[in-house]
Amino acid sequence: AKETGKNRYHFFNQKLNEDIVRKMTLEIELKKAMQNDELMVHYQPKFELNSKKIIGMEALLRWNHATLGAIPPQEFIRVAEETGQILPLGEWVLRKACEDTKELHKKGYQKIAIAVNVSVRQFEEQGFVELVEQVLEETGLEAKYLELEITESIMQNVAHSTEILKGLKAIGVKTAIDDFGTGYSSLHVLKTLPIDTIKIDKSFIDQMEVITNFSIVKTIIDIGLNLNLKVIAEGIETHFQHEILIDLGCELGQGYLFSQPVSLKELENHLLLAV
Ligand code: C2E
Ligand code: CA
Ligand code: CA
Ligand code: CA
Repeated sequence: AKETGKNRYHFFNQKLNEDIVRKMTLEIELKKAMQNDELMVHYQPKFELNSKKIIGMEALLRWNHATLGAIPPQEFIRVAEETGQILPLGEWVLRKACEDTKELHKKGYQKIAIAVNVSVRQFEEQGFVELVEQVLEETGLEAKYLELEITESIMQNVAHSTEILKGLKAIGVKTAIDDFGTGYSSLHVLKTLPIDTIKIDKSFIDQMEVITNFSIVKTIIDIGLNLNLKVIAEGIETHFQHEILIDLGCELGQGYLFSQPVSLKELENHLLLAV
């Protein structure tokens, strides 16, 4: 028993070291990646479920490291949030996404909206609203085409978050609650915060043939529509899900059934084909 305990200690110790080394490596490499333009923004189109028309897209960060390979956003974004690197990184994504969208508008795709994910750390940073305003001014993108996706974690500081959301509304920028339903305060969010859109998390869209998931999705859509909010479903992978969502009155959706996140070039080809 003593031997096992010792082995286990070694195992955990080794695992812990590996985790720390990985994190430190990512922190250093991410800094280089930002300087060397190794990061990319991909775009996943958002669709009107009835017509299957593209109405907008979501910007999603991609990092393909020369030797480490593709690093999942969830992993490097967590590191960036811990180190504070999310501030320059988030600003870069925002600017790039607005620039690319403005380019699409110039090419004649006038009504394409852009959604950008924003970490709570960025959202709560002093001067966030001014930063967004500045990026819009620099890129020439009209504010009404920009939507910021934030999670329920902004509820940790309701008063401050409300103030920021009001500031964003004042400059004409839209806001969405991402991963809706997965936090602890979903209904409180709707009751308190001035948001425009709720985005039903993929975990509820998965296995909608299970009555629990079906009922939750139905309820979220009903609440959203009753509160005059836009409702979008993420992670749609099957025709079955697509049809059920239409039946339930959900107007917007996103998912591999329609398109994965793709480069701007690929997206343009998608758009060109669809228009
Ligand atoms: P999210 O905001 O919930 O984005 C949806 C994730 O689901 C994306 O993963 C997307 O590629 C994936 N997805 C979309 N449709 C489907 C589908 O039909 N099936 C499946 N299996 N997956 C689907 P991704 O790109 O790996 O991003 C993961 C998370 O990383 C995002 O979750 C978001 O929280 C974060 N993230 C990505 N880019 C950024 C960014 O620029 N800033 C911040 N703060 N977070 C980001
Ligand atoms: Ca999102
Ligand atoms: Ca999600
Ligand atoms: Ca998310």
